[in-house]
Amino acid sequence: MQRRITGFGLDDKGERFARLDCGHRQHVRHRPPFVERPWAESEAGRASMLGETLDCLRCDRLEMPDGVTPYRETPVFDQATVPAGLLKDHETKPGTWGRLEVLAGRMRCVFADPVGRAADLGAGENSPIPPEASHHVELHDGARFRVVFLRVAADGG
Ligand SMILES: [Zn+2]
Repeated sequence: MQRRITGFGLDDKGERFARLDCGHRQHVRHRPPFVERPWAESEAGRASMLGETLDCLRCDRLEMPDGVTPYRETPVFDQATVPAGLLKDHETKPGTWGRLEVLAGRMRCVFADPVGRAADLGAGENSPIPPEASHHVELHDGARFRVVFLRVAADGG
């Protein structure tokens, strides 16, 4: 998914990375002629890229970033009590991850493009739900579940 750049930092090896609004980090190397990112070399160049987007493959792979904090969870839902909105495509707010926790039965969490994949989950399993990723859930075999919401760290972790 395309993610907005919220800042920059240096990792343990002195490599420059961009902080993205999903909570992930992405290296922004300038290695001509393979990777042309002259803007990454200067303070002014990096500042000019704040708010621009990069494609985050870690979101597409449903990888929860480090440094997220749970702040709310839904009640436990089953086939009778699941809100209709969860069965249709919907998405979380910018900067908010979900974690679908299956307590019983089986569930399928289907992500629309650009993530474009589905997670099949049994009891005791869970799936990260990236911010703003359109998805819906399907309940099977007496599924019971809840969703925990997690906030990305303000400094991007
Ligand atoms: Zn991401």
